[in-house]
Amino acid sequence: MLLLQAKPSIPSHFLHFFFPNQTIRGSDDAKPILSFHPPNVFHRLQASQNTPPSIPKEESSSSSSSSSSSGPHFREIEEEEGLRFIRGKKLLSDLSTWGIGGPCNYYIEVFDESHLISAVRHCCRHSIQFLVIGKGSNCLFDDRGFNGCIILNQIEFIERIGPGAYRVGSGYPFNRLGMQCSKEGFSGLEFAGGIPGTVGGAAFMNAGANGQESADTIENVSIIRMDGSHRVLNRSELAFGYRRSCFQKMEDMAAIVAVTFKLTPSVSAMEWQRTYLERRRMSQPLQDRSAGSVFRNPSLGSMVSAAELIEKTGLKGFKVGGAKVSDLHANFLINCDGSTSRDMLQLIELVKEKVYRRFKIKLEEEIQYIPYDFR
Ligand SMILES: Cc1cc2nc3c(=O)[nH]c(=O)nc-3n(C[C@H](O)[C@H](O)[C@H](O)COP(=O)(O)OP(=O)(O)OC[C@H]3O[C@@H](n4cnc5c(N)ncnc54)[C@H](O)[C@@H]3O)c2cc1C
Repeated sequence: MLLLQAKPSIPSHFLHFFFPNQTIRGSDDAKPILSFHPPNVFHRLQASQNTPPSIPKEESSSSSSSSSSSGPHFREIEEEEGLRFIRGKKLLSDLSTWGIGGPCNYYIEVFDESHLISAVRHCCRHSIQFLVIGKGSNCLFDDRGFNGCIILNQIEFIERIGPGAYRVGSGYPFNRLGMQCSKEGFSGLEFAGGIPGTVGGAAFMNAGANGQESADTIENVSIIRMDGSHRVLNRSELAFGYRRSCFQKMEDMAAIVAVTFKLTPSVSAMEWQRTYLERRRMSQPLQDRSAGSVFRNPSLGSMVSAAELIEKTGLKGFKVGGAKVSDLHANFLINCDGSTSRDMLQLIELVKEKVYRRFKIKLEEEIQYIPYDFR
């Protein structure tokens, strides 16, 4: 049951939550362990109490949900209006490439837009804070988990709407899209080969590499808003920056549903895509559990990458608990031995501190830290 209304001054039951200079507490909720400066805005729904509202419905002990919903973590299933929520058992470590994170209160997989809208409306109606994720390849979840609903986006479709023009579901694998477009002789997404996220995650993060970025090719983006309505944002309405997008601060957006890309014909696209992928294989620890580059490269004016700065401080191979600075690529912090979010956050802070002490450059996180509670 729900119990809280949004404050009247805040638009649409939906709050953006900024964490300037916030102190993050360890998973054991003991002393603050470090100060963390997440790069982006987070949002939340207002709720009245710490314990999540229960959804009135039958519980089933069946584990016959979709293939990714099987196993020991799926004993509690709640169904309402055709929505199937896993209650309290889904581990976020299973939903992130880092393999870190405790359980979320609710978990649902969505396969099309109407399903996603229903899930969002449901969460809004019950004041459950929610987060839409793709492959979790840029997320650091908390050891305590998430005090709300994780909506796993599996909206996968691809429509060819003209030469080099693709309308793609936001849950479509970005890596696959990059390879397909290049193979079909179109340039712009060669860099996407090897990026283990979704199209929605790529638009949200403005993913990029090798001098290319998602923003260069995006024509329009379909979103759904907090009230469940659909909106298409055209290129002129979209603002992107280095690993930043307007979606990271958009007050009334609930989720990205589809993205239209416009690419240019190229006879060498396939060759470039392969070259980039090979370069990635040589320079990145792809066998290890990571979230890609943890830090953004320093802003304009600096000729050195974050990886070079970290390497020059001698931190390659440095460990905190199960978290380690990769020996191969210093901007990759890997979960090498059962890292907790606490280990990883401490390592992140330590890297920032050492780099600042030596170079007076403040590194900023590219990864998204998802706290247990946005409130
Ligand atoms: C080995 C490896 C290599 C990588 N290489 C690169 C690289 O070269 N370049 C690069 O830029 N990144 C790279 N990354 C990071 C990551 O893959 C990208 O940022 C990717 O775009 C994230 O997509 P995702 O679906 O996994 O997003 P998630 O990690 O699931 O989510 C990231 C953020 O986007 C939001 N989000 C995701 N989908 C939606 C949606 N449909 N609607 C609204 N919000 C949404 C989430 O709420 C979250 O805040 C790499 C990661 C790994 C593990």
